[in-house]
Amino acid sequence: MAEYDNSNIFAKILRGELPAQKVYEDEHTLGFLDIMPRAPGHTLIIPKRPARNLLDIEPESLAHVIKTAKKIAIAGKKAFNADGITMQQFNETAGGQVVFHLHVHIIPRHTGVQMKPAASVMEKPEVLAEHAKLLKEALA
Ligand code: AMP
Repeated sequence: MAEYDNSNIFAKILRGELPAQKVYEDEHTLGFLDIMPRAPGHTLIIPKRPARNLLDIEPESLAHVIKTAKKIAIAGKKAFNADGITMQQFNETAGGQVVFHLHVHIIPRHTGVQMKPAASVMEKPEVLAEHAKLLKEALA
């Protein structure tokens, strides 16, 4: 497996070199909106410690990510009045991974509504800002 490369997009977001609609941050993790959401409220949770994916992440760091994923799932269900939550996590190109800093997707779902295809439609910044606000309110 390739080494962790700190020039990936999410490492740049962590260093503040690229913008993101942040919804949650603590000592170990960051949660921000996916710019091409598969459904409203689609959030990515990443560890602050470098890890390429599930295959190299330290178990403790992964545990922090999962704890945050649960918080975001509960907030997403509340904020978007969702009927369910889809959690996704991809590993290596063959596993569907595109950005090589471990991330968990939390996607609010409504009965009978299909998700958009992955990375298909770039959401408007003002819509993302509104969705981030709703999630932050639900997390408060
Ligand atoms: P994957 O590695 O397959 O889990 O996919 C990476 C995800 O990151 C996709 O859902 C993209 O829409 C999302 N994405 C790519 N660039 C950004 C960015 N700058 N900010 C937020 N999400 C992003």
